[in-house]
Amino acid sequence: MSNAIPHTWSIAIHGGAGSMTRDTMDAAAIAAHEAGLAAALDAGRAVLAAGGSAVDAVTAAVAVLEDDPQFNSGRGAVFTYEGTNELDAAIMAGDTRAAGAVASVTQTKNPVRLARAVMEAGPHVFLSGAGAEVFARAHDVPVAQASWFATPERLRQLEELKAQPDGWFDAGMKYGTVGAVARDAAGHVAAATSTGGLTGKRWGRIGDSPLIGAGTYADDRAGAVSCTGSGEQFIRAGAAHEICARMRLIGEAPDVAARAVLDEIGAMGGVGGVIVVSSAGEIAQVFTTPGMFRGRADSSGAHEVAIF
Ligand code: ASP
Repeated sequence: MSNAIPHTWSIAIHGGAGSMTRDTMDAAAIAAHEAGLAAALDAGRAVLAAGGSAVDAVTAAVAVLEDDPQFNSGRGAVFTYEGTNELDAAIMAGDTRAAGAVASVTQTKNPVRLARAVMEAGPHVFLSGAGAEVFARAHDVPVAQASWFATPERLRQLEELKAQPDGWFDAGMKYGTVGAVARDAAGHVAAATSTGGLTGKRWGRIGDSPLIGAGTYADDRAGAVSCTGSGEQFIRAGAAHEICARMRLIGEAPDVAARAVLDEIGAMGGVGGVIVVSSAGEIAQVFTTPGMFRGRADSSGAHEVAIF
């Protein structure tokens, strides 16, 4: 759904697209996820309502979701095949198109804050692995032990996956990647995305989330996008940039551009969802899975979270 009324500021968040339905989630789980989404939405909304920047708002919202073990990012990230948690994140500012991203980090408490440090303090856009952790320490980005990220439920999901005879890949779609997009009162947009990737990922696999233009993109001339879903197809579609390009070059509304790109991803065999904010402040939240954890708020007083 897109909202045609421009707002002074607006924000949308997601906590991952996936196979969840009212039949597979009980009332307590629904309430707990909605509370987690509302807390993240409030963190971002508080920044924007106080006149803060879109970059600060998406950082704040994503950091809350990273700390919430219900979502697949930071604490509660899914496990790799080898039983570790390897985290990816990206952030982008629409005014300058400055961007920062990290992949396969294992000791940084909030990967979105490290991505932001890369954007603001480094000469590079994309750092990975041990080098990214060295950069984190040099820039006072808080560290965490491996035990901070690991949760029993995610370990159970890895064991369930490994017990399937032919399934090393997360066919059950236990996603839960998180992201945020915002448009601030100054008219600038930003996007951020953070994930543990896919359960049972191997061989240093990296998905779309930290790839600028695939899972994350922001451009004041169009809007900001954060994606979730089957990352390989989102990479091949250049999804987040493609949505912004359609809005900028052929004037599509955010929901129309999002639907068109998700259709292309579907034709490649991929599923998932996207959140979009246009430079005018319109929000779209579109998904091709049964559910997507999501929320939206704006300066008119709108404030809602939803799953199905
Ligand atoms: N897109 C993410 C990845 O492929 C997964 C997700 O959105 O849940 O790493």
